[in-house]
Amino acid sequence: MANTNENSTIGIGWYVHLPFCRTKCGYCDFYSLPTVSSLIPDLVRAIVGEIDLRMPNRPVRTIFVGGGTPTELPAENLDELLEAIGRMAGAAVSEWTVEANPSSASDLKLDVLRRRGVNRISFGAQSFFPEDLAVLERIHDPSHIPESIDAARRAGFDNVNLDLIYGIPGQSMQRWRESLARAIDLGTDHLSCYSLMYETGTALTKFRDQGRVTPCDESLEADMFEATIDVLANAGYVQYEISNFAKPGRRCEANLIYWRNEEYLGVGPSAVSYLDGLRRKNIVDVRKYVNWMAGQPDDLVVESESLTPMARAAETAIQMLRLIEGIDRTHFIAATGFDPISLFADALSETTTAGLVEITPTHIRLTRRGLLLSNYVMRAFLSAVEDENPTRAPTQQFVTLQIEKT
Ligand code: SF4
Repeated sequence: MANTNENSTIGIGWYVHLPFCRTKCGYCDFYSLPTVSSLIPDLVRAIVGEIDLRMPNRPVRTIFVGGGTPTELPAENLDELLEAIGRMAGAAVSEWTVEANPSSASDLKLDVLRRRGVNRISFGAQSFFPEDLAVLERIHDPSHIPESIDAARRAGFDNVNLDLIYGIPGQSMQRWRESLARAIDLGTDHLSCYSLMYETGTALTKFRDQGRVTPCDESLEADMFEATIDVLANAGYVQYEISNFAKPGRRCEANLIYWRNEEYLGVGPSAVSYLDGLRRKNIVDVRKYVNWMAGQPDDLVVESESLTPMARAAETAIQMLRLIEGIDRTHFIAATGFDPISLFADALSETTTAGLVEITPTHIRLTRRGLLLSNYVMRAFLSAVEDENPTRAPTQQFVTLQIEKT
């Protein structure tokens, strides 16, 4: 496998969704369910079959195996799946990530990952405090986090991500800063720091609506975000996306494919693909997914969307605005055929006047204030195409489904 090359943009990404978790975390709205052991062999066969059926004849640059919790699979099933993925993906892959829960990454499974070519591991740490983990209904204990990182290093991983969450009910600024400090002390190569979201239909949202949890104060949450930027910058991490921070050479290439609105193949139940201008989402039911691959009539695809050129341009703009470098004007024109300065003239006038966006000779990017109000900026950019054709505006949600979260 080639070394990670942050400048390479040749090839597509593959995303593989494994839906099983030991239990459901209260805030999670990704497709996941308690592990059904009897389905695992069929699921592995179905995923391998889907890749074989659908893989485009294009080099594969990144692989991201997420979920769910991929490391919930027994070692022999994980081995079978990863062997097949690696064989079909070929030698052009520069980054191969697998998501793991700190409590399910055994030495045996970590050895399987390394042996099959996985070179990046992403742990869903979320917090170093039991009170926070209890609110989130995570199954791991804070002590599992350093243990799992140690085990990953022993297995040979030199590229380790931790996901952390701020804005948890009851979390103080001091506790958030302490979680950041511990993640830094562990020598983590990459940190994804997301604010807690109250997604429709989750247990946490129900608890909030019932008054059983009190959401974090908005101004405290904004202060936590600003503290994150400053603390991680002082520790040598480069913020390259609103919520993502990396040591030099350690940006997540798989996620950069989403944020640049480039092509990817998604396989497994609920996975989203974006190929040849068509976005499609697989069926959100592991039994139906397995049955489809075994020849049952249920349709694999439950949503598909072919964007108009202008809708695609707007979607590309809001994805690229997430990047700290912003919208590369030359790249944007080459990818979409539109000049962003004229396409988003009204949105730019409004957001630059408000100090949320700045225009450089080469890029359009969020200011520091704009980072705090990015949703407002993105709505302004989307309104440019909604005004043009209200029925064809892209949905930001649809393209951010597969970003790291386990
Ligand atoms: S947050 Fe991650 S570990 Fe928790 S239920 Fe969702 S996918 Fe599973």
